[in-house]
Formats: sequence, C-alpha cells, structure tokens
Amino acid sequence: MSQPASPAHPPRDFSTLISDRAGAIDVSGIRRAFELGGQLDQPINLSIGQPDFPVPEAIKKATIEAIEKDRNGYTLTRGAPELLDSVAKRLRQDVGWDLSSDDGIMHMITSGTSGALLLAYLAVLNPGDEVIVPDPYFVVYPAIGEMVGAKTVYCETYPDFRMTAERIEGLITDRTRMVLINSPGNPTGVVLSNQELQEIIELCRKRGILLVSDEIYDAFTYEESLEDGRFSTPARFGQDMLLVRGFGKTYGCTGWRMGYAAGPSAVIRQMMKLQQYTFVCAPSMAQVGLAGAFEVDLGEHIRTYQSRRDRVVAAFGDVTDLVQPGGAFYAFVKVPARLGLSSEAFFMRAIDRNVIVIPGHVFSRRDTHFRLSYAAPDEQLDRGLAILRELMGG
Ligand code: PMP
Repeated sequence: MSQPASPAHPPRDFSTLISDRAGAIDVSGIRRAFELGGQLDQPINLSIGQPDFPVPEAIKKATIEAIEKDRNGYTLTRGAPELLDSVAKRLRQDVGWDLSSDDGIMHMITSGTSGALLLAYLAVLNPGDEVIVPDPYFVVYPAIGEMVGAKTVYCETYPDFRMTAERIEGLITDRTRMVLINSPGNPTGVVLSNQELQEIIELCRKRGILLVSDEIYDAFTYEESLEDGRFSTPARFGQDMLLVRGFGKTYGCTGWRMGYAAGPSAVIRQMMKLQQYTFVCAPSMAQVGLAGAFEVDLGEHIRTYQSRRDRVVAAFGDVTDLVQPGGAFYAFVKVPARLGLSSEAFFMRAIDRNVIVIPGHVFSRRDTHFRLSYAAPDEQLDRGLAILRELMGG
C-alpha cells in the first residue's frame, strides 16, 4: 500500500520561533574549519581536538563487558558507585581531598566535561551575573554564558597567555560570581604554576567568588611544566573551588561523554539536581568501563605528544612568536605581522595548501593567531609544519 501523501501546509517561517539565547550563539568555528576541510582531498588535518591514540585495550574490554553484564540502565544521577569510588581515591592521592563523606565537599560523574561546566553555570549564575574567563578561551565558555544569561568578562592574556590573579583582580565587580581557569589551556597549551594558581584561589576566596578549574588536559602536562613531578592545580591550595576533569581526552574516548566534578557540597548538590532533570546520568557502560582507568599507564602516549610539541616549537622558533605550550596538544601560533594577514586570511591560505588549522578568532576577540593541534600522526604533522613555515616565509 502506498503511503498517504503528507498534507500540504503553507510554508512557515520557524526562524521567528528561535530564542534570543540560541540566536546569540554562533555555529562553532571549529565545525566550520571541519566542514571546509571535509571538501579537501586527503587534507593534513592539524585541527583535531582529540587524541589520535585508541582507547586502551583494558578500558575497551571493561566497557564491552559492562554492556554484556547488562549495565545499560540509568545509574544514580550522581554516578555509578564503582566510578565514584575510583574518582574519590584518585583525588585523595592527587590533591589530598577526602571525599569519603559528603560533609563539605562532594563529587559527581557528569556527561563530559562540557556537561559539568554547563551544570556549574546553571547552578551558580543568575542572569546578569558575571563570569571571568581567559581570552583566548575554549569555545564552550562564552556559549554557555549566553545559555544562562550570564555576562562573560574576558581576561586578556596576550602575549604570554597567563591568566594571573593580577590580571583577574581588575575585572572583578559586585556582579562577579565565578572565575573559570583552564590549565593546561585550550587553545594555547599554557600551564599555570603552583604559585599563580595559589594566588588565584586566594583572590577568589577573599572576594567571595567561586573558582572553577577546568583541568581536562591534566594528563597532558609535559615534564618541564610539572612541579615536584606533579601537575599543578589550585585544588592543592583549598577545597573551596570546583574542580572539573574529564576522561575523553585522557583515554581517547571523547565520544563517550565522560567527566567529573568535585567541590563544595552546596554547589555539587545543585549540579546533581540539575543533572537529574537534563542529562539524567552519564552513560552507564562508560562509567563502569572507566572505573579502572586511573590504573592505565599513559606514559608512552604522553612522551609521544611531548616530542611532537618539541617539533612544533622547533618548526616555528625562527619564523614567528610562539609561547611554548607546556601541556594539552595545541600551540597557539602568531601569524607574523610582516605578512599583514588576519588569522582568517592565513587560515584560507593554509586551506589552499591542503592544511587545516583553526583561525584564532574562533577562540578570541583577536584575530592574530591560529590554533594548531599536534594530535596528528608524525608524518602528517611534519608535512603540515613545513607548509605552514613556508607560508610564513620560513
Ligand atoms: N574544556 C576544554 C578546555 C576542552 O578543550 C574541552 C574539549 N575540547 C572540553 C572542556 C569539553 O570536553 P568534553 O568532551 O569532556 O565535554
């Protein structure tokens, strides 16, 4: 039997039904670079924001096993008990937080790090409240500000990309509720020092502001940027902050949407309530499968990324200004002023040569740099670096 024809409607203009909130957010510039790159034949893709190694075997197995053992239903909103236990153990060892009772501080599992950040914004910011973020920033930060009606205040960090207490202090007003920091940073790879982080948490404490630390790249911190052999975090200087970390980048499972948050119970309880009515819970099988993740040794991958970082620094050292990235897998490279090009124009020239990077205006109010991701195979990275150097006249 043939389907009945759908009834004809006069054309309608749905754009009149779109919220101001949605209208105020641009489609991600990263997607745009992606789409342009999609039109290239075998591009050299230095734009990817995720590791190029596969999920470690043990984690794959544990996740498949979780599905087979029927761990496919909702978990508690807060998270599956085995993963909550393993995060608590990890944070005790790493930053000395005692998460064994819910007095004072708590932790929860979230749907990606983005999920944790959105819940934090929803829990803390009223319309008109101000949140201070670095510029350059990760693209999600201003977008979620729009979603909750908060005002994003940009902390200018050029040219060294260090978001310091001194730079933050002058931006604080009586509407400031949150300071968001990101070390190692996307898109710059810059790692803040213990001293800088301690000064920031002390400033937030003094001014009654919530410090949120997005530490999604904690595992990707290179040797010279570790202090006492450890990644630096404000969490070692107090528990009066919200710590946000993820599994996606660390274990190469960005599509599993897994993260966690820990901090004051008064904030986490609100985030849990909001998660209940939005994400409901993080993906069940991924939670169970990642419960043993902290045991996995990533040393070899991190050394590979460090050596790629060194190649990037060596490639650009004599042709442009580059702040040496201490972590993550990005470099934020200045388009040499002598070229007289915006980052957008440079990006188009790179596209013409089959190389995809991301223009700096996607991450910043300035248009002077581009983001290069070195989460790409060595051979591609080397070819890409040679072309970009040539475009800079090197
Ligand atoms: N924070 C930063 C700084 C990031 O770069 C990203 C991902 N690119 C996220 C958060 C979001 O990560 P997730 O995939 O865990 O939501």
